[in-house]
Amino acid sequence: MPELLSVEEALERVLAHTRPLVAERVELAAAVGRVVAEPARAGVDLPPFASSAMDGFAVRADDTPGSLPIAFRVAAGAPSTVELPEGAAAGIATGGVVPAGADAVVPVELTVERNGLVDIRDPVTRGSHVRPRGGDVTEGDVVVAPGAQLGAAQIGALAAAGIAEIACFARPRVAVLATGSELRAPGQPLGPGQIYESNRALVAVVLEAAGARVEQLAVVADDESAHLEALAQGLEADVLVTTGGVSVGPHDLVREAAASLGVSEVFWGVAVKPGKPLSFGVRGGTLVFGLPGNPVSSLVGTLLFVRPAVLALQGLADPTPRYETGMAGAPLRRNPRRDELVRARRRPTESGVTLEPLGGQESHMIVRASAADALVHVPRGEGVIPERSPVRYLPLT
Ligand code: AMP
Ligand code: MG
Repeated sequence: MPELLSVEEALERVLAHTRPLVAERVELAAAVGRVVAEPARAGVDLPPFASSAMDGFAVRADDTPGSLPIAFRVAAGAPSTVELPEGAAAGIATGGVVPAGADAVVPVELTVERNGLVDIRDPVTRGSHVRPRGGDVTEGDVVVAPGAQLGAAQIGALAAAGIAEIACFARPRVAVLATGSELRAPGQPLGPGQIYESNRALVAVVLEAAGARVEQLAVVADDESAHLEALAQGLEADVLVTTGGVSVGPHDLVREAAASLGVSEVFWGVAVKPGKPLSFGVRGGTLVFGLPGNPVSSLVGTLLFVRPAVLALQGLADPTPRYETGMAGAPLRRNPRRDELVRARRRPTESGVTLEPLGGQESHMIVRASAADALVHVPRGEGVIPERSPVRYLPLT
């Protein structure tokens, strides 16, 4: 294996080969999580008219304090046609059009109504409880800028601004296949020497949550023609993820098969544990990730490299993994050659999150890993990170 790339360099190389996909128009209801490709502009002023912020009475501020006749009442949604006569008040609902002539609203709690009159004890400031036209946004202004990811508030803002469809970067199509003659699907009986296949499901979960449309391809036996056939199919996608078969054994056929199908390898080997023999290449617009077969290695490789690529294909401004900071709950021995991602549980304390490393850190131990809710990043180097030192971690939930 050539010299290992650092995790940071490897991610940089992946992202350097990743461009956002084309834009497509998406209905608002289906746009949650999508990344905006073109500026979305307001179709109207918002609010579209001066409206009342309270249930109460619309008045001329100069007529207060006083006892004013109630000229008419304005419901929300009713058009405003009548001007407020001088020296009078109009009943008004929250969201109602403030009638011409009125310049303030007095909340109903500050008034007493009797015999067709409303008593307003205190003077009212001009403009109070009136939402001016265009106070939130004016017609033609940008509501959501390119690169923003659509969550609840953004989707609400687009709806409020009258936008029914929005240009978003396409969701990447990801093909996932597993290699290994020993693998059987869960639910089937295991023969001698066989194990259950777990990587496709695990990779699919991470990438679907990141916005990809994942197709799980077949389990591929460790022979050349099976590899060529399956990889050729997977290369039709925007991203092909394979698991297993990228190490140095005689049955590790993925890199060779990929090369003979025209994939040009960008790197092989990352200074990370678990997940070292990860390979990355490209063919045309397709990104090709070869993840090592041990399930925890596949998980780590997906989180550190494939997920950022899937996010970058969708145009996300910063697709890199979101590390958080916590405190080591135990001394962490550093590995001189590789960064380690240590399975841990988060424990909230008064001074922040403490990370308790779990037993069973080997890369085949996916059941042990499933008890973790964090991966603690232990940078390569000498010695030990003492208990209670600050550490970075990736949340798993
Ligand atoms: P490999 O990277 O192909 O050398 O596989 C490394 C280890 O991971 C071997 O013990 C494999 O049996 C195991 N393995 C490979 N692929 C999978 C998979 N899809 N699900 C579960 N274990 C796997
Ligand atoms: Mg294998």
